[in-house]
Amino acid sequence: MSVTRRQAVGVLATAGVLGPLALWLTGRDTTSAHDAAFPLQKTDAEWRAALTRDRYRILRGHSTERAFSSPLNTEKRKGTFVCAACGQKVFSSKAKFESGTGWPSFWEPIDEAAVGTDIDQSYLMVRTEVHCARCGGHLGHVFSDGPEPTGLRYCINGLSLDFVTESAAS
Ligand code: FE
Repeated sequence: MSVTRRQAVGVLATAGVLGPLALWLTGRDTTSAHDAAFPLQKTDAEWRAALTRDRYRILRGHSTERAFSSPLNTEKRKGTFVCAACGQKVFSSKAKFESGTGWPSFWEPIDEAAVGTDIDQSYLMVRTEVHCARCGGHLGHVFSDGPEPTGLRYCINGLSLDFVTESAAS
């Protein structure tokens, strides 16, 4: 059993949904089994065709963009940040704050059901990974050193987001 599959099963156990799904997971290929839990499904070839290479690297490959590289880091307008892979609304400008890290930062998602989390033990760290709950696309990580009212800091790759200004949405 690979680490990733153990993590997936562990997260399911923590969430209290162990059962047929977890049993099904343990018998399947790691990445696709984890990805198969998401409502929006595309093949790897379809994701590669749909996303730019840089966006694919982050959203499907769990990579991280260079700090201060995304224009969304300094985006100050009112609006909604959507998953760049599937368009699901994931963060609002109302919860955006300047963290100084070089990545777009939010203190809460637009809706609790909009994002999911996973334990990420890569690079000799234990972090909480954040992904789009609809397509499973990797967005970033969440840390517990954020501002009030939640005390959370969602540290998100700008390349995994698209910004829709309030005026464009209405
Ligand atoms: Fe998505």
